[in-house]
Order: sequence, then structure tokens, then C-alpha cells
Amino acid sequence: MLIEAVVVRVFTTTAHTAVDDAGHRHPAPEHEVRAALLEITDQDGRTGYCQVQPDHLREPVLSEHIRPVLIGRDPWQRERIWQALSRRQRGAHGGLTDRALGYVDQALWDLLGRRAGLPVWKLLGGARDRVPAYASTMCGDETPGGLSCPEDYAAFAERLVKRGYRGIKLHTWMPPVPFAPDVRLDIRTCAAVREAVGPDIALMLDANHWYRRTEALELGRALERLDFSWYEEPMDEASLSSYRWLAQQLAVPVIGPETAGGKHLVRAEWIRAGACDILRAGVDDCGGIGATLKAVHLAEAFNIDCEIHGNGSGNLAVLGASDNPRWYERGLLHPHVDFDQAPPHRNTIIDTLDVDGTVAMPTAPGLGDDWNIAHIAEHTIDTW
Ligand code: MG
Repeated sequence: MLIEAVVVRVFTTTAHTAVDDAGHRHPAPEHEVRAALLEITDQDGRTGYCQVQPDHLREPVLSEHIRPVLIGRDPWQRERIWQALSRRQRGAHGGLTDRALGYVDQALWDLLGRRAGLPVWKLLGGARDRVPAYASTMCGDETPGGLSCPEDYAAFAERLVKRGYRGIKLHTWMPPVPFAPDVRLDIRTCAAVREAVGPDIALMLDANHWYRRTEALELGRALERLDFSWYEEPMDEASLSSYRWLAQQLAVPVIGPETAGGKHLVRAEWIRAGACDILRAGVDDCGGIGATLKAVHLAEAFNIDCEIHGNGSGNLAVLGASDNPRWYERGLLHPHVDFDQAPPHRNTIIDTLDVDGTVAMPTAPGLGDDWNIAHIAEHTIDTW
């Protein structure tokens, strides 16, 4: 059966979060937002789905680059399709992003899993049927009782531990919050959280992203004293030399790269340079499930952990296919947001947390997302 149609369906749904000027997500009153599904349909009428950011997969990208590669192709030739799209990136001058490749790859895997009658994580290796989740907080804010000070973070961390989490990752304050960035405030916050949860909970930090080397080193040395499990993206990841400089001086594991372009190839360079102690990859940054698994296997060959960036069904498929990553990133979480409430376009969430702090792999064929197809059909506002 060959691929017959590739469509992006834009629809309205509701959200309880909104992004600030720098793209960081915070709580917000319930409001309507646009969302989209990439739908890849074969001649049998079976469809694979991936939720996409509508602004990240515009019609010209679909018509000029994606459809010419996919239409009429056997969907089981997933790697051949991925390689063809990857090679088109050079001539697309930035228009065909790693993220777009990732969306296509996830929708194809969903289609293949549905055709096979199997969850994707089983098709890919079936390494485990549940994974420990760490709670990943939103960035800091100015909301009292939210994430506005070290005491807020400590109180929220206590709640998360009571909920079952055995690991917590803090995102601290970043611009445009007016008092950010502030290394000393980050250190006080990490210390308050360690004090609140005790020595047995794994803690990680993702801070600022644009510190200078000396600031990043000061913060890293504090994390060593506080027994943190990893230190994530304190500087611009385009500077491999800066991360090599940092990792060589710190005992706390430096993790990366998260958002640097270049898929599994750039991750090989980070390992070779000694710029990270733990590799980082996720389906939306690395070009999809297949390319993220290449990064995971690359790390495995060097006895390095590869921790997965971001939540969702595609990342869960990677986690179920390998026992290398230790954690699933559950979030982003905030004291004022109910993360367990499914949005109207989903019947259920994909990553329910069990009392032991783990998330079970989905059992439905494909990626396992439980779409509310009726809501999506009724609220469709555009297709391309
Ligand atoms: Mg991060």
C-alpha cells in the first residue's frame, strides 16, 4: 500500500498555558489556541498522525518538499523517506527543518504501527513497558505561590515527591522575567529544593541558556555540592568549545546538546569533543524517532546515557525501544496548572503517572495517542 495523501489539519482547542516573549511556557487563563495534526494516509485509507505546531509546518514546506518525497512511496520505506528528506534540507535553505523531518517520521511510525497492529515501541525493540518519569517544572515567574522564589520551588518539589516522582528537573528564571538571569538566585533555589526533598530524589537543572563561561562554572560547582544528577544548557549550545571547557572542569554530569541543529551527526561531535557526559536528544529536535534512536545507540556504544528531551508519544516510543535513557521528561509542570487534564482534542493523556513515579508505555497500535477525532473534525479551521 502506497502513501496517497499528506495533509496538515489546523483546528482550535483550549489551553491553560501561554508562552512569553522568549518562548517559555507559563500558566494562563483558559483560552482558545490553534493546534494541528499532520495526517499521512495510505491507499487503504489508514492514517498516521502527529501533532504539529501549525506555524512549523506551513503549506509551502508540505507542497515543495514533503509531498514530492512521500506521495506514491511505500510507507514501510521509512528510512529511505527520511534520508530523502534529510538530503533535501541542504537545498531548502532552512525551510525544511529537523523538526519537520521529525513530524513526518512520527506520523509514518504511527501509520506503520497501526498497519502492524502493534505499539511503535514494540516494533522498535520492546526494551521495557514502563519508564521512571522526572517532573520537569516550568520556568520561574513572578506569581506568588507559583514559581516566584526559592521557597515556591521547594514547596512545589515537596508536592511532586508526594505525588510519586523520584526525580525533578528545575527550569529557573529566564528573561523576560525582569530579575533574570541571576546565578546566585539559581543556586539558592537549587539548595532550597535539595533541602526540601532530601538526598534520595534525583535533581537536575536547566538554567538560563545564555550564561557566560564563568557564570556557568560557578553554578555548576554549586550543583556538585548539592549532588545534582545533571546540568543542562547553561550556555548557547552553538559553542561546542564552551561546553568542552565546562565539562572538563565539573564533576556534575553536563548534558547536551538539546536544540543544536545537526541531528545525530552533531551529537557524535559532542561525544568526540568531550563536551558532554550525558547525551541529549528528542524526536522534535533530532529529526524524529529513527534519528533519536541513532543518537541513543551512539551513546550506548560509548557507555554514555542519552536522556530524552520532551514529552509525548514519539519520545515514549524511543524510551520503550531502548533501556539506555533513565528518564521520561513529564511536563512542563507548575503548581497552578493541572497537567493531568486532557485538552479537548484528546480523550486521554498519553503519560499518566503511576504512584511509583513511572509512566506505562501505550498499548494501542501506533504511537498510542488517543485523539478526539470528533472534536478535531468539528473545530477544523483550515487544511493544507
Ligand atoms: Mg532543556
